[in-house]
Amino acid sequence: IFDEFSIKKLVRPVPDFPKPGVVFRDITPLFQSPRAMRMVADSLIQRYVETEFSHIGALDARGFIIGSILAYELNKPLVLFRKQGKLPAQVLSQGYSTEYGEAFLEVHADSLCEGDSVLLVDDLIATGGTLLAAAQLVRRMNARVHEVAAVIDLPELGGSRKLQEAGIAAYTLTA
Ligand code: IMP
Repeated sequence: IFDEFSIKKLVRPVPDFPKPGVVFRDITPLFQSPRAMRMVADSLIQRYVETEFSHIGALDARGFIIGSILAYELNKPLVLFRKQGKLPAQVLSQGYSTEYGEAFLEVHADSLCEGDSVLLVDDLIATGGTLLAAAQLVRRMNARVHEVAAVIDLPELGGSRKLQEAGIAAYTLTA
């Protein structure tokens, strides 16, 4: 069901966004293709339908789109990992650095507990900083990361390697 080439064709490189020298991989064309989105969703569902984990953890903001499809189809509770200042109740906050600078990722402090096993979902792995921060938040709640899943990997930025080195399995549909 999965065709890496047709997914890659729907990722548009945008030079100098969000700042000079950075080439942003814009995946909005992928979201605009029902056929490609179905391929992405079906591939991820097929991988995870028979594995054991308790929660989907979706990363702000494009991870919410893919994560919510998986949570619906796999019938799992959905936990949101958000950029700073968006979640209303008590949060845990984790600092991290990205290609573009420093940031904080937050999660509601009561959203996971000991024994929970979380599939973290995002659209794209660049430096891996965001998913590593999410993994740290999962661990701070005494839960564990089942795996991280993303549509696109940018291996030249080293993120998936950094995740593997931290003992976190990373699954991506394209490299
Ligand atoms: P990382 O933390 O450096 O791995 O960056 C990944 C996070 O930033 C994900 O949440 C992505 O949505 C976002 N991101 C970073 N670079 C890009 C890009 O080139 N295209 C789309 N999203 C990106």
